[in-house]
Amino acid sequence: MYIILPYKAKFIIVNSMASGQNHDKATKICCIPIAICIGLFFGLGHGMIAGISFLIGGLWLSPDLDTYSNSLKRWGFLKFLWWPYRKLIPHRSFFSHSPFIGTGFRLIYIVLLSLIIKRLIQSFGITLVPISIFDLSSLIETYRAQFITAILGIEGSAWLHLILDGAPNPIKWNKLKRKKKP
Ligand SMILES: [Zn+2]
Repeated sequence: MYIILPYKAKFIIVNSMASGQNHDKATKICCIPIAICIGLFFGLGHGMIAGISFLIGGLWLSPDLDTYSNSLKRWGFLKFLWWPYRKLIPHRSFFSHSPFIGTGFRLIYIVLLSLIIKRLIQSFGITLVPISIFDLSSLIETYRAQFITAILGIEGSAWLHLILDGAPNPIKWNKLKRKKKP
């Protein structure tokens, strides 16, 4: 989306990035048709997984986790988990605001971080969840179709975010003005 603004007696065209509220509203609205479409083609179960994962992707795993956003606030006291990510990744960078790579990077980040924290807690002799990485991979293997639907739902929400940000096209990334981090 582009808007024209008066600046120093000239008119300039700037990219108007969607606000956090607009992103949230669009995610909540779009998860319904996504769930219906997937449900019609692949069954009710997949439709529900797609809709819920789209909602989770847009509200909790959004590309804007690289800045102090609504998505980050939703993590509550766990938002400290995203502190290294936020410090390492510049806002609207290739690693957060690009198709596939953005979602992949966030998912790998949170899984790796969870495993590190789990291992750290275990080193004190405390067992939180008796699930290993092998249990997780066999679970994914058993429910492979549902897992793919969930990943596609999360990725779909990222695409909606990128479109609203006005950056669906990788060529435009560098041209878009990056917001300063708070
Ligand atoms: Zn964004």
